[in-house]
Amino acid sequence: MKVVIIWFRRDLRLEDNTALSQAISYSKQKQAYLLPIFQIDPHFVDMKYDTSHEYFFKTLSVFANEARQKGLYLHLFYHQAIQMFRLLMDSYKIDAVFYNRDEAGYGAQRDHEVSAFLRKNGIHPSPWTDAHLHGAGEIVKQDGSMYKVFTPYFRAWSKAEKPKMMKLDDHFLCSKQMIRNQTLSKQGEQVLEHLVQSGKRHWEHVDVAIAKQALFRFLDEKLAAYHENRDFPFVNGTSKLSCFLKTGVLSPRMVYYAALQHESPQGAKDVFIKELAWRDFYNMVYAAHPYMADTEIDERFRNIRWNHDQMLFQAWCEGRTGFPIVDAGMRQLNKEGWMHNRLRMITASFLVKDFLIDWRLGEAYFSEKLIDYDPASNIGGWQWAASVGTDAVPYFRIFNPVTQSKKFDPDGLFIRRYIPELQHVPDEFLHEPWKMPIQIEESSSCIIGEDYPKPLIDHQVQRRLAIETYETAKNM
Ligand code: FAD
Repeated sequence: MKVVIIWFRRDLRLEDNTALSQAISYSKQKQAYLLPIFQIDPHFVDMKYDTSHEYFFKTLSVFANEARQKGLYLHLFYHQAIQMFRLLMDSYKIDAVFYNRDEAGYGAQRDHEVSAFLRKNGIHPSPWTDAHLHGAGEIVKQDGSMYKVFTPYFRAWSKAEKPKMMKLDDHFLCSKQMIRNQTLSKQGEQVLEHLVQSGKRHWEHVDVAIAKQALFRFLDEKLAAYHENRDFPFVNGTSKLSCFLKTGVLSPRMVYYAALQHESPQGAKDVFIKELAWRDFYNMVYAAHPYMADTEIDERFRNIRWNHDQMLFQAWCEGRTGFPIVDAGMRQLNKEGWMHNRLRMITASFLVKDFLIDWRLGEAYFSEKLIDYDPASNIGGWQWAASVGTDAVPYFRIFNPVTQSKKFDPDGLFIRRYIPELQHVPDEFLHEPWKMPIQIEESSSCIIGEDYPKPLIDHQVQRRLAIETYETAKNM
């Protein structure tokens, strides 16, 4: 019997799934059977198993159950991709493999190798652009070269026609043309079960109903003031949809059209939609610079002499630097697996410019902890903060953690939420608790150096050192 494969990856949804819709049409046309698969890649399982993976595999497990209730039996495998296809070729006569392509990083490399292997074996690979509103090669300058700066990219992005949502033929999922072969999936099931069981946390916001609820609540309750509130971590004014976009429980088109069609003022909608363009921009940048996971795009800064102080790095990871806004951000990340964008910028800048610690270490830490971890956005964000990427913050513009704190958390509401030690510290000292006179330390039950750390560095000294370090690298 002729078999078509639909290979799910970071598109864990049945609605508006480009490759799935295309695979169904093709199967109908060819009168072929459709086999849905997911490959649990040993590459990811062998990595440190932390929040990011925990959240993803929990989402996968919920998706597999929900899809099965709708008739689509997701077959799970625990093999290298090519090994998995060899195994499948032993059991089935495979005609084509449909998937939503990865355009950058490890996924792009894997897709490249797998499609060559499939072609060599007479199987038709069918990749689709789905994870972004515009794929990496779609928005280019008139001469065909890539944009390096976001603003002109965004201008072109805004004008480009957006892809339509895909309608799914639900009836096909329950039909006899769908393959349901439980024995094939046995090992993958066990591995997934084990991964979910080893999770330390109970993740609830993983399924499509909750994701849609989050989307529409955001639109109804927060979108109108998004442009005013989005920079203030204490407000909870952003969408928090990044985790659903990462797992693909929501497609970017679902988010885009829902925002576009909402009754909120156009200005607010435009600001929100612009953020979705940043996601596409960084995907394009990563696809164009496949080395950027470990090498600075800006060649001038490839020889920075980083500080290797492990104690400082550990203090940053744990939110014990003595700078409340930095510590509150890191504690939010450790506790919730998500951090507000303003704090991602502040904490990243602090690690790199105040501690002079290599941005790659910070990127790796975020990659383990973020439930929305997206290599392109994370590496892009880190190279931006470290002033080594394309369209990055200039190296001499260094965030002052106290000024940032006063500006974006003026009443200390966010700091107090995440740092209970500072709960009773008066407002005037909250952003710089080391300035408290001892009597106030005592009356607010917060002895600096005991209950809450002394600042581990002097910002003004480190600021000068950072500029010097970047200039030395530049002149080498
Ligand atoms: P909203 O403000 O509601 O924005 C809507 C959506 O737009 C987001 O869900 C996201 O998909 C996209 N978006 C918003 N800002 C950006 C941005 N600057 N770059 C790319 N996409 C954006 N985002 C990730 O999705 N994964 C990451 O691993 C990641 N790492 C980052 C690391 C650093 C150092 C920095 C500075 C930023 C990083 N970002 C990352 C971007 C941004 O912080 C998050 O997308 C955002 O905080 C997610 O929250 P939200 O869904 O409430 O965003």
